[in-house]
Amino acid sequence: MNHSDSGLAHGTSGSPQLSIKNQEMANKAKENEKNIWNNALKNQAYTKIQHLIGSTSGSRGKAMAVGAYDEKTGKTVAAFAGEIPKKIHPDLLKLAERVGGVGSLGVTDRNTVGVCAEFHVINDMLLSDSKLEHIRLTRPIRPRTGQFMPYCDNCRAMFLEIIERSS
Ligand SMILES: [Zn+2]
Repeated sequence: MNHSDSGLAHGTSGSPQLSIKNQEMANKAKENEKNIWNNALKNQAYTKIQHLIGSTSGSRGKAMAVGAYDEKTGKTVAAFAGEIPKKIHPDLLKLAERVGGVGSLGVTDRNTVGVCAEFHVINDMLLSDSKLEHIRLTRPIRPRTGQFMPYCDNCRAMFLEIIERSS
């Protein structure tokens, strides 16, 4: 096609206003895409929690379940609260120091640091090479009722940045 008699041919095609608008639209599109991707991963993580609860005998007796996803790689995991993991990633050990270290009661009067489901999923993610800054959490769920529960104060302190990024 020959554009030589189009009005845009005389040096007006690169109008700065137009470029800014295009850039804004491109950024917005990129952001939307990222939100769609993150929401899909979040849904996958919730599905994983449901499968975990459905496929584990005695799951209704577990205190809590939570999911996590890696916004970079798309990996999702789910876990119950339970015993402190035998192998803990060094980055997580460091975060636990914020509240007094693994095995302490942290800033709570009854939640041992390392027992929470959040601790388990984040550890699983880190041990399978996820970067801390790419990890996001679902909300915790009580398996017996299926209800959303709040994060405990230890998790809030240790995983502050992750929780803020996840909301
Ligand atoms: Zn917790």
